[in-house]
Amino acid sequence: MIAQDTIVALASPSGAGAIAVIRMSGQKAIAIADAVFQSVSGKSVAKQKSHTIHLGHIVEDGKIYDQVLLSVFKNPHSYTGEDVIEISCHGSTFIQQQIIQLLLRKGCKMAQAGEFTLRAFLNGKLDLSQAEAVADLIASDNEASHQIAMQQMRGGFSNEIAKLRAELLNFASLIELELDFAEEDVEFADRTQFKELLNRIEFVLKRLIDSFAVGNVIKNGIPVAIVGEPNVGKSTLLNALLNEERAIVSDIAGTTRDTIEDELVINGIGFRFIDTAGIRETKDVVESIGIKKTFEKIEQAQVVLYLFESVKFQVSSSEFIIEIEKIKNQFPLKPLIVVINKIDLISKAEIENIRKQLEAVNVKLETISAKTNTGIESLKDQLLSFVNTGALRNNETIVTNTRHYDSLLKALEEIQKVQFGLQSGLSSDLMAIDIKQALYYFGEITGEVTNDELLGNIFANFCIGK
Ligand code: GDP
Ligand code: ZN
Repeated sequence: MIAQDTIVALASPSGAGAIAVIRMSGQKAIAIADAVFQSVSGKSVAKQKSHTIHLGHIVEDGKIYDQVLLSVFKNPHSYTGEDVIEISCHGSTFIQQQIIQLLLRKGCKMAQAGEFTLRAFLNGKLDLSQAEAVADLIASDNEASHQIAMQQMRGGFSNEIAKLRAELLNFASLIELELDFAEEDVEFADRTQFKELLNRIEFVLKRLIDSFAVGNVIKNGIPVAIVGEPNVGKSTLLNALLNEERAIVSDIAGTTRDTIEDELVINGIGFRFIDTAGIRETKDVVESIGIKKTFEKIEQAQVVLYLFESVKFQVSSSEFIIEIEKIKNQFPLKPLIVVINKIDLISKAEIENIRKQLEAVNVKLETISAKTNTGIESLKDQLLSFVNTGALRNNETIVTNTRHYDSLLKALEEIQKVQFGLQSGLSSDLMAIDIKQALYYFGEITGEVTNDELLGNIFANFCIGK
Protein backbone atom coordinates (compact mmCIF):
# COMPACT_ATOMS: atom_id res chain seq x y z
CA MET A 1 0.00 0.00 0.00
CA ILE A 2 1.51 3.31 -1.03
CA ALA A 3 0.42 6.53 0.62
CA GLN A 4 0.23 9.50 -1.75
CA ASP A 5 1.21 12.24 0.67
CA THR A 6 4.62 13.02 2.02
CA ILE A 7 4.22 13.80 5.69
CA VAL A 8 6.32 15.86 8.05
CA ALA A 9 6.40 16.35 11.81
CA LEU A 10 8.69 17.17 14.65
CA ALA A 11 9.93 13.81 15.95
CA SER A 12 11.63 15.12 19.07
CA PRO A 13 9.63 16.52 22.02
CA SER A 14 7.98 19.88 21.48
CA GLY A 15 9.75 22.83 23.06
CA ALA A 16 13.32 24.02 22.88
CA GLY A 17 16.32 21.69 23.17
CA ALA A 18 19.92 21.48 22.03
CA ILE A 19 18.81 19.78 18.84
CA ALA A 20 15.47 18.87 17.32
CA VAL A 21 14.65 16.18 14.78
CA ILE A 22 12.20 16.80 11.97
CA ARG A 23 11.03 13.74 10.11
CA MET A 24 9.61 13.44 6.59
CA SER A 25 8.21 10.30 5.03
CA GLY A 26 6.76 9.60 1.60
CA GLN A 27 7.35 9.45 -2.14
CA LYS A 28 8.45 13.08 -2.40
CA ALA A 29 10.62 13.15 0.74
CA ILE A 30 13.90 12.99 -1.17
CA ALA A 31 12.85 15.51 -3.82
CA ILE A 32 11.65 17.92 -1.15
CA ALA A 33 14.92 17.45 0.75
CA ASP A 34 16.82 18.34 -2.40
CA ALA A 35 14.70 21.46 -2.82
CA VAL A 36 15.72 22.84 0.59
CA PHE A 37 19.05 21.21 1.47
CA GLN A 38 22.49 22.23 0.24
CA SER A 39 25.03 19.69 1.37
CA VAL A 40 28.59 20.76 2.10
CA SER A 41 29.77 18.06 -0.31
CA GLY A 42 27.61 19.52 -3.08
CA LYS A 43 26.02 16.14 -3.83
CA SER A 44 22.22 15.89 -4.10
CA VAL A 45 20.23 13.87 -1.58
CA ALA A 46 18.86 11.69 -4.38
CA LYS A 47 22.39 10.56 -5.20
CA GLN A 48 23.22 9.64 -1.60
CA LYS A 49 23.11 6.07 -0.35
CA SER A 50 20.50 4.92 2.16
CA HIS A 51 21.44 5.12 5.85
CA THR A 52 23.90 7.99 5.45
CA ILE A 53 24.18 11.34 7.23
CA HIS A 54 25.16 14.64 5.61
CA LEU A 55 26.16 18.04 6.86
CA GLY A 56 24.66 21.03 5.09
CA HIS A 57 22.28 23.98 5.21
CA ILE A 58 18.56 24.45 4.91
CA VAL A 59 18.18 27.19 2.33
CA GLU A 60 15.31 28.92 0.57
CA ASP A 61 15.88 31.63 -2.07
CA GLY A 62 19.39 32.17 -0.78
CA LYS A 63 18.21 32.56 2.82
CA ILE A 64 19.92 30.16 5.21
CA TYR A 65 17.64 28.83 7.93
CA ASP A 66 20.05 26.58 9.82
CA GLN A 67 23.05 24.32 9.59
CA VAL A 68 21.76 20.77 9.93
CA LEU A 69 22.54 17.08 9.70
CA LEU A 70 20.35 15.25 7.24
CA SER A 71 19.82 11.47 7.40
CA VAL A 72 18.62 9.48 4.40
CA PHE A 73 16.64 6.24 4.67
CA LYS A 74 15.50 4.91 1.32
CA ASN A 75 12.47 2.65 0.94
CA PRO A 76 11.87 -0.05 1.94
CA HIS A 77 14.60 0.09 4.59
CA SER A 78 13.15 2.78 6.82
CA TYR A 79 10.87 3.02 9.82
CA THR A 80 7.79 3.58 7.67
CA GLY A 81 8.95 1.52 4.71
CA GLU A 82 8.83 4.70 2.60
CA ASP A 83 11.62 7.17 1.78
CA VAL A 84 12.39 8.89 5.07
CA ILE A 85 14.45 12.02 5.67
CA GLU A 86 15.39 13.12 9.15
CA ILE A 87 16.72 16.61 9.69
CA SER A 88 18.58 17.28 12.94
CA CYS A 89 18.49 21.03 13.35
CA HIS A 90 19.26 23.40 16.19
CA GLY A 91 16.59 23.04 18.83
CA SER A 92 14.99 26.44 19.20
CA THR A 93 11.25 26.32 18.61
CA PHE A 94 11.69 29.18 16.12
CA ILE A 95 14.07 27.18 13.90
CA GLN A 96 11.91 24.03 14.21
CA GLN A 97 8.84 25.94 13.08
CA GLN A 98 10.67 27.76 10.26
CA ILE A 99 11.92 24.49 8.78
CA ILE A 100 8.60 22.68 9.15
CA GLN A 101 6.79 25.63 7.54
CA LEU A 102 9.29 25.57 4.69
CA LEU A 103 8.76 21.82 4.14
CA LEU A 104 4.99 22.36 4.13
CA ARG A 105 5.42 25.07 1.49
CA LYS A 106 7.46 22.62 -0.59
CA GLY A 107 4.62 20.11 -0.65
CA CYS A 108 4.68 18.14 2.62
CA LYS A 109 1.56 17.55 4.66
CA MET A 110 1.52 17.81 8.43
CA ALA A 111 1.49 14.27 9.85
CA GLN A 112 -1.41 13.19 12.00
CA ALA A 113 -0.92 11.54 15.36
CA GLY A 114 0.66 8.12 14.84
CA GLU A 115 0.75 8.47 11.06
CA PHE A 116 4.41 7.41 10.74
CA THR A 117 3.74 4.26 12.72
CA LEU A 118 0.46 3.67 10.85
CA ARG A 119 2.41 3.74 7.58
CA ALA A 120 4.99 1.37 9.08
CA PHE A 121 2.16 -0.99 9.93
CA LEU A 122 0.46 -0.67 6.53
CA ASN A 123 3.80 -1.35 4.82
CA GLY A 124 4.33 -4.48 6.90
CA LYS A 125 7.25 -3.08 8.91
CA LEU A 126 5.48 -3.74 12.22
CA ASP A 127 2.48 -5.79 13.22
CA LEU A 128 -0.30 -4.16 15.14
CA SER A 129 0.78 -5.22 18.61
CA GLN A 130 4.29 -3.99 17.85
CA ALA A 131 2.88 -0.66 16.73
CA GLU A 132 0.96 -0.41 19.98
CA ALA A 133 4.17 -1.21 21.83
CA VAL A 134 5.71 1.87 20.24
CA ALA A 135 3.00 3.95 21.87
CA ASP A 136 3.55 2.17 25.19
CA LEU A 137 7.28 2.71 24.91
CA ILE A 138 6.84 6.43 24.46
CA ALA A 139 4.43 6.53 27.39
CA SER A 140 6.36 4.28 29.74
CA ASP A 141 7.75 6.13 32.71
CA ASN A 142 9.26 3.27 34.69
CA GLU A 143 11.68 0.48 34.00
CA ALA A 144 9.16 -2.35 34.26
CA SER A 145 6.68 -0.94 31.76
CA HIS A 146 9.54 0.04 29.48
CA GLN A 147 10.84 -3.53 29.57
CA ILE A 148 7.44 -4.96 28.67
CA ALA A 149 6.95 -2.51 25.82
CA MET A 150 10.41 -3.28 24.42
CA GLN A 151 9.72 -7.00 24.52
CA GLN A 152 6.40 -6.54 22.77
CA MET A 153 8.00 -4.36 20.14
CA ARG A 154 10.54 -7.04 19.39
CA GLY A 155 7.49 -9.15 18.60
CA GLY A 156 7.73 -11.72 21.40
CA PHE A 157 4.05 -11.97 22.04
CA SER A 158 2.66 -11.51 18.56
CA ASN A 159 5.13 -14.02 17.10
CA GLU A 160 3.75 -16.64 19.42
CA ILE A 161 0.17 -15.77 18.50
CA ALA A 162 0.96 -15.64 14.79
CA LYS A 163 2.56 -19.10 14.93
CA LEU A 164 -0.41 -20.66 16.68
CA ARG A 165 -2.74 -18.92 14.26
CA ALA A 166 -0.85 -20.43 11.32
CA GLU A 167 -1.15 -23.92 12.81
CA LEU A 168 -4.83 -23.42 13.47
CA LEU A 169 -5.32 -22.10 9.95
CA ASN A 170 -3.73 -25.26 8.62
CA PHE A 171 -6.27 -27.40 10.47
CA ALA A 172 -9.07 -25.11 9.43
CA SER A 173 -8.25 -25.64 5.77
CA LEU A 174 -8.08 -29.43 6.23
CA ILE A 175 -11.50 -29.36 7.85
CA GLU A 176 -12.82 -27.14 5.07
CA LEU A 177 -11.49 -29.74 2.66
CA GLU A 178 -13.47 -32.44 4.45
CA LEU A 179 -16.59 -30.43 3.74
CA ASP A 180 -15.89 -30.69 0.01
CA PHE A 181 -15.75 -34.46 0.33
CA ALA A 182 -18.73 -34.73 2.64
CA GLU A 183 -20.25 -37.76 0.88
CA GLU A 184 -17.09 -39.81 1.19
CA ASP A 185 -16.92 -39.25 4.98
CA VAL A 186 -13.14 -38.74 5.08
CA GLU A 187 -11.08 -37.08 7.79
CA PHE A 188 -8.09 -35.11 6.48
CA ALA A 189 -7.53 -33.44 9.80
CA ASP A 190 -6.00 -35.84 12.30
CA ARG A 191 -8.30 -35.48 15.32
CA THR A 192 -5.64 -36.48 17.86
CA GLN A 193 -3.19 -33.91 16.55
CA PHE A 194 -5.93 -31.35 16.34
CA LYS A 195 -6.86 -31.96 19.96
CA GLU A 196 -3.22 -31.61 20.97
CA LEU A 197 -2.98 -28.28 19.14
CA LEU A 198 -6.15 -26.98 20.77
CA ASN A 199 -4.79 -27.88 24.20
CA ARG A 200 -1.55 -26.11 23.43
CA ILE A 201 -3.42 -23.01 22.24
CA GLU A 202 -5.64 -23.07 25.31
CA PHE A 203 -2.58 -23.23 27.56
CA VAL A 204 -0.87 -20.28 25.87
CA LEU A 205 -4.03 -18.19 25.83
CA LYS A 206 -4.66 -18.81 29.52
CA ARG A 207 -1.10 -17.87 30.41
CA LEU A 208 -1.31 -14.64 28.42
CA ILE A 209 -4.71 -13.80 29.90
CA ASP A 210 -3.38 -14.35 33.43
CA SER A 211 -0.37 -12.16 32.72
CA PHE A 212 -2.68 -9.21 32.12
CA ALA A 213 -3.25 -8.86 35.87
CA VAL A 214 0.49 -8.28 36.37
CA GLY A 215 0.90 -6.31 33.17
CA ASN A 216 -1.95 -3.96 33.82
CA VAL A 217 -0.71 -3.17 37.28
CA ILE A 218 2.84 -2.55 36.09
CA LYS A 219 1.68 -0.33 33.30
CA ASN A 220 -0.66 1.74 35.42
CA GLY A 221 1.09 1.61 38.78
CA ILE A 222 0.22 -0.41 41.85
CA PRO A 223 -2.51 1.30 43.80
CA VAL A 224 -1.66 1.83 47.47
CA ALA A 225 -4.15 3.37 49.88
CA ILE A 226 -2.74 5.45 52.74
CA VAL A 227 -5.38 5.41 55.46
CA GLY A 228 -5.50 7.09 58.84
CA GLU A 229 -7.15 9.68 61.04
CA PRO A 230 -6.72 13.29 60.11
CA ASN A 231 -3.36 14.70 61.14
CA VAL A 232 -1.51 11.40 61.59
CA GLY A 233 0.89 12.43 58.85
CA LYS A 234 -0.43 10.80 55.66
CA SER A 235 0.42 13.75 53.48
CA THR A 236 3.82 14.13 55.12
CA LEU A 237 4.53 10.45 54.46
CA LEU A 238 3.47 10.85 50.86
CA ASN A 239 5.83 13.77 50.56
CA ALA A 240 8.63 11.77 52.18
CA LEU A 241 8.01 8.93 49.72
CA LEU A 242 7.78 11.32 46.83
CA ASN A 243 10.56 13.54 48.10
CA GLU A 244 8.68 16.62 47.15
CA GLU A 245 5.86 18.82 48.34
CA ARG A 246 2.95 17.65 46.28
CA ALA A 247 0.27 16.72 48.82
CA ILE A 248 -1.10 19.32 51.20
CA VAL A 249 0.38 19.26 54.71
CA SER A 250 -1.38 21.20 57.43
CA ASP A 251 -1.89 21.30 61.18
CA ILE A 252 -5.68 21.40 60.99
CA ALA A 253 -7.21 17.97 61.59
CA GLY A 254 -9.29 16.75 58.66
CA THR A 255 -7.57 18.82 55.99
CA THR A 256 -7.12 15.91 53.60
CA ARG A 257 -10.79 15.39 52.92
CA ASP A 258 -10.52 14.78 49.26
CA THR A 259 -8.34 12.03 47.95
CA ILE A 260 -5.06 12.88 46.32
CA GLU A 261 -3.29 10.51 43.99
CA ASP A 262 0.38 10.53 43.28
CA GLU A 263 2.85 8.29 41.56
CA LEU A 264 6.22 7.09 42.67
CA VAL A 265 8.69 4.69 41.10
CA ILE A 266 10.46 2.34 43.51
CA ASN A 267 13.05 -0.02 42.02
CA GLY A 268 11.52 0.34 38.60
CA ILE A 269 7.97 -0.45 39.76
CA GLY A 270 5.34 2.27 39.62
CA PHE A 271 3.14 2.86 42.66
CA ARG A 272 0.05 5.01 42.75
CA PHE A 273 -0.54 6.41 46.22
CA ILE A 274 -4.01 7.33 47.26
CA ASP A 275 -4.12 9.63 50.27
CA THR A 276 -7.44 9.14 52.05
CA ALA A 277 -9.26 10.36 55.12
CA GLY A 278 -9.31 8.11 58.20
CA ILE A 279 -12.12 5.81 59.27
CA ARG A 280 -12.89 7.14 62.76
CA GLU A 281 -16.57 7.43 63.70
CA THR A 282 -17.81 10.94 63.02
CA LYS A 283 -20.95 13.03 62.95
CA ASP A 284 -19.47 15.55 60.55
CA VAL A 285 -21.20 15.09 57.18
CA VAL A 286 -18.24 16.07 55.03
CA GLU A 287 -16.01 13.72 56.96
CA SER A 288 -18.41 10.78 56.80
CA ILE A 289 -18.42 11.14 53.02
CA GLY A 290 -14.64 10.91 53.30
CA ILE A 291 -14.96 7.65 55.24
CA LYS A 292 -17.18 6.13 52.59
CA LYS A 293 -14.59 7.16 50.01
CA THR A 294 -11.86 5.61 52.12
CA PHE A 295 -13.58 2.23 52.01
CA GLU A 296 -13.98 2.53 48.25
CA LYS A 297 -10.30 3.37 47.88
CA ILE A 298 -9.25 0.43 50.05
CA GLU A 299 -11.38 -1.78 47.83
CA GLN A 300 -9.45 -0.61 44.74
CA ALA A 301 -6.02 -0.65 46.36
CA GLN A 302 -3.63 -3.54 46.13
CA VAL A 303 -1.88 -2.66 49.38
CA VAL A 304 -3.14 -0.67 52.37
CA LEU A 305 -0.94 1.45 54.60
CA TYR A 306 -2.76 2.15 57.87
CA LEU A 307 -1.17 5.06 59.68
CA PHE A 308 -1.29 5.85 63.40
CA GLU A 309 0.40 8.55 65.44
CA SER A 310 2.83 7.07 67.96
CA VAL A 311 1.62 9.24 70.84
CA LYS A 312 -2.09 8.60 70.30
CA PHE A 313 -1.52 4.92 69.71
CA GLN A 314 0.13 4.59 73.11
CA VAL A 315 -2.92 6.12 74.78
CA SER A 316 -5.65 4.34 72.82
CA SER A 317 -3.97 1.14 71.66
CA SER A 318 -6.95 -1.16 72.35
CA GLU A 319 -9.29 1.13 70.42
CA PHE A 320 -6.89 1.24 67.46
CA ILE A 321 -6.33 -2.51 67.51
CA ILE A 322 -10.11 -2.94 67.15
CA GLU A 323 -9.94 -0.67 64.10
CA ILE A 324 -7.16 -2.76 62.59
CA GLU A 325 -9.23 -5.91 63.17
CA LYS A 326 -12.17 -4.16 61.50
CA ILE A 327 -10.16 -3.49 58.34
CA LYS A 328 -8.71 -7.00 58.37
CA ASN A 329 -12.21 -8.49 58.61
CA GLN A 330 -13.61 -6.20 55.94
CA PHE A 331 -10.73 -6.89 53.53
CA PRO A 332 -9.26 -10.26 54.60
CA LEU A 333 -7.13 -10.75 51.48
CA LYS A 334 -5.78 -7.23 51.21
CA PRO A 335 -2.14 -6.85 52.26
CA LEU A 336 -2.08 -4.46 55.20
CA ILE A 337 0.90 -2.63 56.65
CA VAL A 338 0.38 -0.86 59.96
CA VAL A 339 2.58 2.21 60.09
CA ILE A 340 3.28 3.96 63.39
CA ASN A 341 4.32 7.49 62.48
CA LYS A 342 5.96 10.28 64.49
CA ILE A 343 8.30 7.98 66.41
CA ASP A 344 10.52 11.01 66.88
CA LEU A 345 8.05 12.01 69.59
CA ILE A 346 8.45 8.87 71.75
CA SER A 347 11.31 6.89 73.32
CA LYS A 348 12.85 3.63 72.06
CA ALA A 349 11.29 1.74 74.98
CA GLU A 350 7.88 3.12 74.04
CA ILE A 351 8.38 2.01 70.42
CA GLU A 352 9.19 -1.51 71.70
CA ASN A 353 6.05 -1.48 73.79
CA ILE A 354 3.89 -0.64 70.75
CA ARG A 355 5.62 -3.39 68.81
CA LYS A 356 4.74 -5.94 71.50
CA GLN A 357 1.09 -4.92 71.59
CA LEU A 358 0.75 -5.27 67.84
CA GLU A 359 2.29 -8.74 67.76
CA ALA A 360 -1.08 -10.04 68.96
CA VAL A 361 -2.87 -8.85 65.78
CA ASN A 362 -0.30 -10.41 63.47
CA VAL A 363 0.16 -7.55 61.00
CA LYS A 364 3.16 -6.19 59.18
CA LEU A 365 4.46 -3.25 61.19
CA GLU A 366 6.68 -0.34 60.26
CA THR A 367 7.70 2.38 62.69
CA ILE A 368 8.60 5.64 60.98
CA SER A 369 8.96 9.35 61.26
CA ALA A 370 7.72 10.91 58.07
CA LYS A 371 8.99 14.28 59.22
CA THR A 372 12.58 13.21 59.88
CA ASN A 373 12.66 10.58 57.11
CA THR A 374 13.21 7.67 59.51
CA GLY A 375 12.16 4.16 58.44
CA ILE A 376 11.07 5.28 54.95
CA GLU A 377 13.47 2.93 53.14
CA SER A 378 12.26 -0.07 55.13
CA LEU A 379 8.68 0.87 54.28
CA LYS A 380 9.58 1.05 50.59
CA ASP A 381 11.06 -2.48 50.84
CA GLN A 382 7.84 -3.72 52.42
CA LEU A 383 5.84 -2.24 49.54
CA LEU A 384 8.06 -3.94 46.98
CA SER A 385 7.67 -7.29 48.72
CA PHE A 386 3.99 -7.30 47.74
CA VAL A 387 4.68 -7.00 44.06
CA ASN A 388 4.92 -10.09 41.96
CA THR A 389 7.72 -9.27 39.60
CA GLY A 390 8.60 -12.92 38.97
CA ALA A 391 7.12 -12.88 35.49
CA LEU A 392 9.23 -9.84 34.67
CA ARG A 393 12.45 -11.38 35.91
CA ASN A 394 11.79 -14.56 33.95
CA ASN A 395 11.27 -12.44 30.86
CA GLU A 396 7.88 -14.03 30.26
CA THR A 397 5.46 -12.42 27.88
CA ILE A 398 3.16 -10.03 29.66
CA VAL A 399 -0.02 -8.62 28.17
CA THR A 400 -0.56 -4.97 29.09
CA ASN A 401 -2.98 -3.89 26.45
CA THR A 402 -6.73 -4.02 27.09
CA ARG A 403 -7.46 -4.57 23.42
CA HIS A 404 -5.19 -7.62 23.31
CA TYR A 405 -6.68 -8.89 26.53
CA ASP A 406 -10.21 -8.67 25.11
CA SER A 407 -9.22 -10.47 21.91
CA LEU A 408 -7.41 -13.18 23.89
CA LEU A 409 -10.50 -13.78 26.04
CA LYS A 410 -12.71 -14.05 22.96
CA ALA A 411 -10.21 -16.33 21.22
CA LEU A 412 -10.10 -18.59 24.27
CA GLU A 413 -13.88 -18.79 24.34
CA GLU A 414 -13.93 -19.89 20.68
CA ILE A 415 -11.12 -22.39 21.19
CA GLN A 416 -13.05 -23.93 24.08
CA LYS A 417 -16.10 -24.19 21.84
CA VAL A 418 -14.01 -26.05 19.25
CA GLN A 419 -12.62 -28.34 21.96
CA PHE A 420 -16.14 -29.09 23.10
CA GLY A 421 -17.25 -29.68 19.52
CA LEU A 422 -14.42 -32.11 18.99
CA GLN A 423 -15.32 -34.04 22.14
CA SER A 424 -18.99 -34.23 21.34
CA GLY A 425 -18.45 -35.20 17.70
CA LEU A 426 -19.82 -31.96 16.25
CA SER A 427 -20.03 -31.97 12.47
CA SER A 428 -17.10 -30.45 10.58
CA ASP A 429 -19.13 -27.64 9.08
CA LEU A 430 -20.22 -26.34 12.48
CA MET A 431 -16.75 -26.75 13.92
CA ALA A 432 -15.32 -24.78 11.01
CA ILE A 433 -17.43 -21.81 12.04
CA ASP A 434 -15.96 -21.72 15.55
CA ILE A 435 -12.43 -22.14 14.22
CA LYS A 436 -12.94 -19.24 11.85
CA GLN A 437 -14.13 -17.11 14.72
CA ALA A 438 -11.07 -18.03 16.81
CA LEU A 439 -8.80 -17.22 13.85
CA TYR A 440 -10.51 -13.89 13.59
CA TYR A 441 -9.68 -12.94 17.19
CA PHE A 442 -6.09 -14.10 16.82
CA GLY A 443 -5.82 -11.92 13.75
CA GLU A 444 -7.21 -8.96 15.62
CA ILE A 445 -4.19 -9.04 17.92
CA THR A 446 -1.51 -9.14 15.26
CA GLY A 447 -3.43 -6.97 12.82
CA GLU A 448 -4.06 -9.60 10.19
CA VAL A 449 -7.68 -8.69 10.69
CA THR A 450 -8.32 -4.97 10.95
CA ASN A 451 -10.89 -2.40 10.17
CA ASP A 452 -10.55 1.35 9.82
CA GLU A 453 -12.23 2.08 13.13
CA LEU A 454 -9.81 -0.15 15.01
CA LEU A 455 -6.80 1.40 13.29
CA GLY A 456 -8.17 4.89 13.85
CA ASN A 457 -8.53 4.17 17.56
CA ILE A 458 -5.07 2.75 18.01
CA PHE A 459 -3.14 5.36 16.09
CA ALA A 460 -5.10 8.33 17.37
CA ASN A 461 -3.52 7.64 20.76
CA PHE A 462 -0.03 8.29 19.46
CA CYS A 463 1.67 11.62 19.63
CA ILE A 464 2.32 13.56 16.43
CA GLY A 465 5.69 12.65 14.93
CA LYS A 466 5.44 8.95 15.72
P1 GDP B 1 -2.60 14.06 57.46
O1 GDP B 1 -3.82 14.85 57.83
O2 GDP B 1 -2.70 12.67 57.95
O3 GDP B 1 -2.31 14.12 56.01
O4 GDP B 1 -1.39 14.73 58.27
P2 GDP B 1 -0.27 15.74 57.73
O5 GDP B 1 0.70 15.04 56.88
O6 GDP B 1 -0.98 16.93 57.18
O7 GDP B 1 0.49 16.07 59.08
C1 GDP B 1 -0.14 16.65 60.19
C2 GDP B 1 0.91 17.29 61.08
O8 GDP B 1 1.77 16.28 61.65
C3 GDP B 1 1.82 18.27 60.37
O9 GDP B 1 2.08 19.35 61.20
C4 GDP B 1 3.10 17.48 60.16
O10 GDP B 1 4.24 18.30 60.12
C5 GDP B 1 3.12 16.62 61.41
N1 GDP B 1 3.90 15.39 61.23
C6 GDP B 1 3.79 14.50 60.20
N2 GDP B 1 4.68 13.49 60.34
C7 GDP B 1 5.37 13.74 61.49
C8 GDP B 1 6.43 13.06 62.17
O11 GDP B 1 6.93 11.99 61.77
N3 GDP B 1 6.86 13.62 63.34
C9 GDP B 1 6.33 14.78 63.83
N4 GDP B 1 6.83 15.24 64.95
N5 GDP B 1 5.36 15.44 63.20
C10 GDP B 1 4.87 14.95 62.04
ZN1 ZN C 1 -3.19 14.99 54.63
